[in-house]
Amino acid sequence: MNKLVLASGNPDKLRELRSLLEDLPFEVISISEILPDWSIEETGITLEENALLKARDAAERTGVASIADDTGLFVDVLGGAPGIYAARFAGSDCSYGDNVRKLLRTMLYETNRKASFRTAAAFVSPSGEELCEMGEVEGIIMEKADGEGGFGYDPVFLPNELDRTFARCSPEEKHLISHRARALKRLIEKLEFSKS
Ligand code: IMP
Repeated sequence: MNKLVLASGNPDKLRELRSLLEDLPFEVISISEILPDWSIEETGITLEENALLKARDAAERTGVASIADDTGLFVDVLGGAPGIYAARFAGSDCSYGDNVRKLLRTMLYETNRKASFRTAAAFVSPSGEELCEMGEVEGIIMEKADGEGGFGYDPVFLPNELDRTFARCSPEEKHLISHRARALKRLIEKLEFSKS
């Protein structure tokens, strides 16, 4: 079976990506199984640039077709911040909890709580074929964290299509509407993996 490399070092993202790709006729492996110390600086200024940067580097260095995603949280009242810098909102080396606390503090007493998660999912083959697709989910930022599941900002993100935060959803429920699932679904349709 052909291999497909997931270019991410984040175990939470890897878990979701693996689950979203499990029906494909590929052996899905994470890049650390080939290059244990792989990491890359995300120097792009858009989600697409960063997703392609990661997938391209992984495909070049492993010689295996690679998929990467890059996700941002865009909060209306903050002019789109933290946006592509969602991982480092509370500073370099901060935890998910630090980011959530900073977001809640920044939005204290704010009534406009609209936000969206956006994901760029990129595929790059060793021969240089490149594709990138976007996925988005709209919702609001809660006034306090609610739920233990998911990761990142999930405890404070209430999608418009649900009555509870992503952190209160099962993985399957999150996959039905999430930014990452939507981007991956479009990417898979474009690649027509399912028809091979
Ligand atoms: P990345 O650049 O794609 O690794 O994502 C940036 C940051 O966004 C992560 O460190 C998380 O804090 C957050 N994030 C990414 N995906 C999700 C998600 O599905 N739910 C909640 N937060 C997420």
